[in-house]
Amino acid sequence: MADRLVSKVVIVGGGTAGWMAAAALGNQLGASCEITLVESDEIGIIGVGEATIPHIATFNAILGIDENEFLRATRGTFKLGIEFVDWGAIGDRYLHGFGAVGPELDGLPFHHYWLRLALAGERSDLAQYSINAAAPRRARFMRARRDMPGSPLAEIVNAFHFDASLYARYLRGIAEKKGVRRREGRIVQVLQRDDAGFEGFISGLVLADGSRIDGELFVDCSGMAALLIEKTLKAGYEDWSHWLPCDRAVAVPCRSVEPLLPITRATAHSAGWQWRIPLQHRIGNGHVYSSRFMDADEATAILMSHLDGAALAEPRHIRYVPGRRTKIWIKNCVALGLAAGFFEPIESTNIHLVQTGIARLLTLFPRTGFDAADIAEANHQARLEYERVRDFIILHYKATERSDSPFWNHCRTMAIPDTLQHKIDLYRSNGRFFREDNELFGEPSWVQVMEGQRIHARGCHPFAEQRPLAEVRAFVADTRSVVERCVDVMPGHAEFIAANCAANGAAATVPA
Ligand SMILES: Cc1cc2nc3c(=O)[nH]c(=O)nc-3n(C[C@H](O)[C@H](O)[C@H](O)COP(=O)(O)OP(=O)(O)OC[C@H]3O[C@@H](n4cnc5c(N)ncnc54)[C@H](O)[C@@H]3O)c2cc1C
Repeated sequence: MADRLVSKVVIVGGGTAGWMAAAALGNQLGASCEITLVESDEIGIIGVGEATIPHIATFNAILGIDENEFLRATRGTFKLGIEFVDWGAIGDRYLHGFGAVGPELDGLPFHHYWLRLALAGERSDLAQYSINAAAPRRARFMRARRDMPGSPLAEIVNAFHFDASLYARYLRGIAEKKGVRRREGRIVQVLQRDDAGFEGFISGLVLADGSRIDGELFVDCSGMAALLIEKTLKAGYEDWSHWLPCDRAVAVPCRSVEPLLPITRATAHSAGWQWRIPLQHRIGNGHVYSSRFMDADEATAILMSHLDGAALAEPRHIRYVPGRRTKIWIKNCVALGLAAGFFEPIESTNIHLVQTGIARLLTLFPRTGFDAADIAEANHQARLEYERVRDFIILHYKATERSDSPFWNHCRTMAIPDTLQHKIDLYRSNGRFFREDNELFGEPSWVQVMEGQRIHARGCHPFAEQRPLAEVRAFVADTRSVVERCVDVMPGHAEFIAANCAANGAAATVPA
């Protein structure tokens, strides 16, 4: 048979990954391809994964999504960054805001001038120089004012928080409009080819009711079940629990409280940390912990005693192995989402990795012959991407002075990948950072987390030292005051939502 464009795609799974893939492939391939998504109501979706990073706006834009409509439908809120509480030491609090921290001066990043003052004994809170980090402290939000170049207001960078189940439903609506067909049912058998050159390729799926779905390309979005990529094709899994000690989560929603903050909060506990994700109608909470250092009862008790409002459901327990699938593409199967791996949610990277996985699939979209070089490239790119994100996440555990529990003693003293050690050493010596392999997190992110967690640079760029200290002091003070004045004119986050994208029936927040 002649090699031609794949024209029959089967997506397994209807969680965030499955419906993102369905919407994007439907949008790109249109009528040239028959796309079927199979999901099981009986199995359901994981239902967590409610915080994102800014790149999701690009995904929405490609699909032509109206952002206000999307936020109404998913009861979503805006996210300007993550607040970390008790990480470097108990009592510490810092913000990792998206976007820039201060302006460059003479080609040097702002933080070198900030470091110059810190080294002269004038250390100040880095959050004051970033609109993304300063605004949440006053519960303020507005969209970037691109018509005001040069102002911090033009540099506001936002992501979203949303209800995961509503997001999957919203994307389903879009995908179905693009022609994607949904089949409900539990897959009980995966059929494989045995013809020469295509041995082991997946040919079809059998559902519990005996019906069969055939395809040419299979996208495994079956979550942790990894039905095709692992159970059928035996991709293998790299376990990273020696670097990422958390392997359990317990999640519970609670009632909203005021003020409505445009940030995710991550509060460290004695054997893990707790997320707090404010939506329009509730707050999502979860305690991510290490089963080596804490049992489920204690983790649940800690979570329930640290809720801001009354719990709205029974706590739900989730187990995972932090790591990645050794290969995300084998034969005619591509894995996305939890089927491709899961580190942990501290920097809200997993939905983003679904997005880049979809982009990679579209860039390397196959013909029916499935080119081995294309598949190798997809696996190579995915490996680099996952490893660079992994290092940034490990940093959060390693960079601590906490010694109050066996868990933090383990994290503080554990061996880390050489690639991460190199970045820490480089920053410590002269405050320098270099982005590798087009990695996801850039200099402002690394600097905020390192300084926020007590990895302090011992020097700054020598050019910053050439300026008189008084000039540096004036530049830094001016930056702070410009950011402050910009925050003054921003509306409250709740006020902005009420004016632009309030969901019908979202419960009003109550004072804490
Ligand atoms: C504790 C925790 C917190 C997280 N927080 C974040 C976060 O804040 N931000 C972020 O970006 N990511 C987060 N994630 C990751 C995020 O939840 C996932 O990346 C995202 O939800 C995608 O999930 P999924 O679609 O891969 O899997 P799922 O939602 O589990 O979907 C799997 C689908 O496969 C179907 N399926 C499975 N087996 C079969 C079968 N035999 N037959 C038919 N259908 C089947 C299921 O019915 C379901 O539809 C978090 C993950 C965890 C575990």
